[in-house]
Amino acid sequence: MATIQQALNAVRATVLAQAGVKCPYCGGQAKLVGGKAIYPHRADLHARKFWQCAPCDAYVGCHKPNPQLGFDGTQPLGRLANAELRKAKSAAHESFDPIWQEEHMSRRAAYAWLAKALGIPVERCHIGEFDVALCRRVESLSEAYFDEVLLAECEGWL
Ligand SMILES: [Zn+2]
Repeated sequence: MATIQQALNAVRATVLAQAGVKCPYCGGQAKLVGGKAIYPHRADLHARKFWQCAPCDAYVGCHKPNPQLGFDGTQPLGRLANAELRKAKSAAHESFDPIWQEEHMSRRAAYAWLAKALGIPVERCHIGEFDVALCRRVESLSEAYFDEVLLAECEGWL
């Protein structure tokens, strides 16, 4: 049986499909393309679909097909990201992920900490959906976190 969330997702997917996907940079209509257009050398991604705005060098991947959720493989994972935003997101992940990867805290606790530090609800705390400014804040918060860890370790040695 479908949950309310699943039903809502299906409605959202239908609305998106009907409205088409817009490029947030130029306001133009994004084009649905195959993975080969985005990652010519990644044969494993060629079957996947992406929404692309070529003039802005912006794109976003799609949810994997899931009939139960109303996803047919063309629903975007979020908004299109250009080169600057893609770079900012991966920099944010590189700074933040070690906090839970190196087991300073659990992944769940790390995201709860980040959400609190950013002043946003934890259920909205997805780096993939952040803009450039939020990504930069994740980076500086994470760096400050590691500065503190380092300082605490140094104090331990004294
Ligand atoms: Zn565009």
